[in-house]
Amino acid sequence: MPDRSPNEIARDTFKLLAVKRLAPTPENYQVLYHEVAGTLAPAHFPSEHLRKIAGLLPAKNPGQQKHLGLLNSAIGQRSWDGVQNALIGFAGFGMVVPSGHSEPAPLTATPPPPGPLATPEFLEQIARLIENALPALGNDDVRFIEQARELLQMLRQAPVDLIRMKSMLGNFSHRLSFTAEDQSEIRATLLHLLHMVFENIAELCIDDRWLKGQIDALMEASTPPLTLRRLDDVQRRLKDVIFKQTEAKGRAYEAQAQMQQLLATFVDRLSLMTESSSVYHGTIEECARQIEQAKSIEELGPVLQNAIQATRHMATETLASRDELQAMREKTESAEAEISKLHHELDRVSAQARHDPLTGALNRRGLDEAMQREISTARRKGTHLCLALLDIDNFKKLNDDLGHEAGDEALSHLANVTRECMRPQDTLARYGGEEFVILLPDTDLDHGIATLTRLQRELTKKFFLRDNLKVLITFSAGVAQLAPDESAIDGIKRADQAMYIAKRTGKNRVLGG
Ligand code: GH3
Ligand code: MG
Ligand code: MG
Repeated sequence: MPDRSPNEIARDTFKLLAVKRLAPTPENYQVLYHEVAGTLAPAHFPSEHLRKIAGLLPAKNPGQQKHLGLLNSAIGQRSWDGVQNALIGFAGFGMVVPSGHSEPAPLTATPPPPGPLATPEFLEQIARLIENALPALGNDDVRFIEQARELLQMLRQAPVDLIRMKSMLGNFSHRLSFTAEDQSEIRATLLHLLHMVFENIAELCIDDRWLKGQIDALMEASTPPLTLRRLDDVQRRLKDVIFKQTEAKGRAYEAQAQMQQLLATFVDRLSLMTESSSVYHGTIEECARQIEQAKSIEELGPVLQNAIQATRHMATETLASRDELQAMREKTESAEAEISKLHHELDRVSAQARHDPLTGALNRRGLDEAMQREISTARRKGTHLCLALLDIDNFKKLNDDLGHEAGDEALSHLANVTRECMRPQDTLARYGGEEFVILLPDTDLDHGIATLTRLQRELTKKFFLRDNLKVLITFSAGVAQLAPDESAIDGIKRADQAMYIAKRTGKNRVLGG
C-alpha cells in the first residue's frame, strides 16, 4: 500500500497495537509501523541491554571514562559502528580490576602500550610532583623514602611497565596519606608545645610588662594558620625575649649575691654586739652587786676600776661596730651604683633587640632583617615589593601643645591603627622618631599608594583621644616599588624623596617614588 499517507499509517499502527494488545513502546510501535506500511523494519537495536553492559564497565582512568562516554553516546544514536569503536578504544585502557580481586588483571596477556596520557612528559610530571611533595613530608619514614625513590626511578626509566607502576603508585599513595597525617599531627603537637613554653616563660616574668607584652605577641603569632612570615616574627620576638631574660637573670644573680653578703655581715655584727653588750651588762651588774655589798670605800676602788674598764671596752666595741656598719653602708652604695651601671649597660645593649618598646613595631635592626627576607622572597617568587615611608605631620607642634607623653601615645595610636589596617603579611617598623616604614609584599606601586591612602582615611575615622579631646593625626608618605635589582637602601631613599615632596607640596599626602 504505497499510496497511503504517513498519517493513515500511523493511525492504523495504533489500531493494530490495540488489537494485538501490545504495550505502546517505541520498539513495538516501530515493528507494527513497518508491518502496516509494508516496509522493511531495521534490525532490532538492543539499547537497553547495551546500556546495562556499559553500566557494568569500570571507569577507573580517564581513558576508560572517555570511551565509556563514547559508548553511551553510540548507544543513544543506535550506531553499531560507534559501539564497536568505543569498545575497541576502551580495551586500550583495559586494566580492569574485577571486584573481589586485589591485583589488577590485564585484558591482554602483555601490558598494553602506553595510552596517550602515559607519555614520557606526563610521567616526568608525576615524578616532579612526587619530588616536590617529598620535602614537606619529612624523612623520618625510611620505607616511604625508599618507595618514593623506586617510584621515581621507574617513572624515569623507559619503557614503563604501566601495570607495575599503577600498583606502585597505589602503594605509595597509601603510605603518603599516613605520612601526611603524621606530619600534620607532629606540627600541631609542636605548636602546642611551643605555646606551653611561651606560657611558662610568661609565668616566670610576671613583673616585666615588656616581656609580658612580647609573650602575648608570641602566642598570637604562633597561632594557626602559620606562614613563614609569621614564624619569622616568632623567631625575632623570641630572640628578644631570650636576650632580655638572660640579662634579667644575670642582674638578679648579682643583686642576690650582694644582698647575701650584706645580710651575712649584718648578722655577724649583730651577734657580736649582742655578745659584747651582754658581757658588759653582766660586768656592770656584778659591779652594782659588789657596790651594794661593799663595807668600806677601799672596797669600791677595784669595783669602779672594773666598771670603767667594761664601759671603755664597750665604747671601743661600739665604735668598731659603727665603723664596720659605715663600711657596710659604703659597700651597699657602691653595689647600688654597680647595679645602676648594669642597667645603663642593659639599655645600651638592648639596642640589639628588634622591636621598638613604645610602639611594638620593628626597630631599625628588625627592619633590616625583615627587609632582607622580603626582598629575597620577592626575587625568588618574582613578585612585587613596595616600601612606604611615612612621617607624621607637625608632630613637634603636637608635642609642644599636648606634652611629650601625649606625643608618645599618639605614636602608639598610629602604630595600632596601621596594624589594624595592614594585611598579616605586611610589616611595620619604626624608622626614626615619628617616621615609620611599611613593607608591602606582593604589592605593586598603585596598590601600595592605595594602601597608604586607605590608612590616611582610617586615621580620620579613628581619632587619637587625649583628655577627651579628638586629635587628628595626619602623615605624609612616599611609596616606592622596589626594582628587580634595587637595594633596600636605595628603595627607602626613593620613598624618602617622594615623602619629602609630599611634605613640600602641602603635607597629608601620599606620593609614589
Ligand atoms: P613635619 O610635618 O615637617 O614632619 O614637622 P614635624 O614637626 O613633624 O617634624 P620635626 O622633624 O620638626 O619634628 C619631629 C618631632 O618629633 C621632634 C621630636 O621631639 C619629636 N619626637 C621624635 N621622637 C619622639 C618620641 O619618641 N616621642 C615624642 N613624644 N616625640 C618625639
Ligand atoms: Mg621627621
Ligand atoms: Mg614629622
